Amino acid sequence: MDYHTIIPMLAERLSHLNPYKPGEQPSDRDYIKLNANENPYPPPEAVTEEVSWLLTSSRKKLGLYPDPDSTKLREAIAKHLNQTGGVLASDSAAGELHFEITPDMVYCGNGSDEVLSFLYYAFFDNDAPLITPEFSYSFYPVYAGFYNIQLRKVPLKSDFSLDVEGMLKDAESSTGMLFANPNAPTGIALSRAEIRGMLERFPKDKVFVVDEAYADFGKESVLPLLSDFPNLVVVRTFSKSLSFAGMRMGYIVAAPELIRAVTTVKNSVNHFPADIICQTAAAAACSHTTYYRGTTVSIVTTREEFRDSLINAGWEVLPSQTNFVFARKAGKTGREVYEAVKAKGILIRHFDVPGISDFVRITIGTPEQMEMLLSAMEEI
Ligand SMILES: *Cc1c(COP(=O)(O)O)cnc(C)c1O
Repeated sequence: MDYHTIIPMLAERLSHLNPYKPGEQPSDRDYIKLNANENPYPPPEAVTEEVSWLLTSSRKKLGLYPDPDSTKLREAIAKHLNQTGGVLASDSAAGELHFEITPDMVYCGNGSDEVLSFLYYAFFDNDAPLITPEFSYSFYPVYAGFYNIQLRKVPLKSDFSLDVEGMLKDAESSTGMLFANPNAPTGIALSRAEIRGMLERFPKDKVFVVDEAYADFGKESVLPLLSDFPNLVVVRTFSKSLSFAGMRMGYIVAAPELIRAVTTVKNSVNHFPADIICQTAAAAACSHTTYYRGTTVSIVTTREEFRDSLINAGWEVLPSQTNFVFARKAGKTGREVYEAVKAKGILIRHFDVPGISDFVRITIGTPEQMEMLLSAMEEI
């Protein structure tokens, strides 16, 4: 059937779609994968033991529907956040959380990508633009197309940090605010004080979403601001710091009223967003904070060592509070660097987008992987 024959069969809304292009997963050889911000360390064995128990001794549970509201998991996430303050790499973050996060402030879904989609549906209208940085997580424009919501893309400043004034300009005429902090693909974070300042000036009747996919690798979380700003929604994921990209678990933390709105969306689409294996594994992961602190601190240490080495080798490397760095070398395009490194069996990410096309985004792997990458980059 040729394409023109099927066009009349397609719903008009399909023309708004511009789907996400994920980091490549080639199979022509074994690559070292430093292109998707995956965690080089596995989850703790205690998590896999819990899953093994489910798959063997209590396998009849696989024939039963999972808890649609993930009650045990939401309790486990709330406890985990109260213990860590939302930043595994920082010992002081828990002390900065001066109130208790309760399970009714948590919604969990099938990866934070799905959770973000439900946020768009619940809070953003079609008749006003959503404010978001020009360069941020590349799924944000995809959902804007899916829900037919306009974006007001605010350029970054010349140092690639977020333009706070630009983001707040005409906020009254927007439908809401969304950005990642630390931002992707730059790795740069605003401080909590700066975000507090933004929230103070942002309309109280619109939702302000901060995507904290990488906050565990940074210095501060915005979670403590929830007590003062009922319009704040914090999006988080197990994929990066908890080594769960293959399991799919993301969540939001917000006022219970907002959680109920998102739950209404979920119950109108698929009321079992996370299967029983994922719910069991994720709840177990939440009680292994010490293990995850260790892997997170290792990644942060490796990141700083790698960044110093790159700078010494003549690269410009943006300051990162994530598990990746964004770097460029004068006279080279991102694509050239990516191709040179790929020829040596290592995958990194580049973006053929004006404004950031000279950068590559490099995920922090193990120290050994970063050594191999450094020698591959030496010849560039
Ligand atoms: C990786 C990432 C996500 C998606 O996480 P999943 O839970 O794996 O869907 C969301 N936001 C940002 C900024 C990310 O980098």
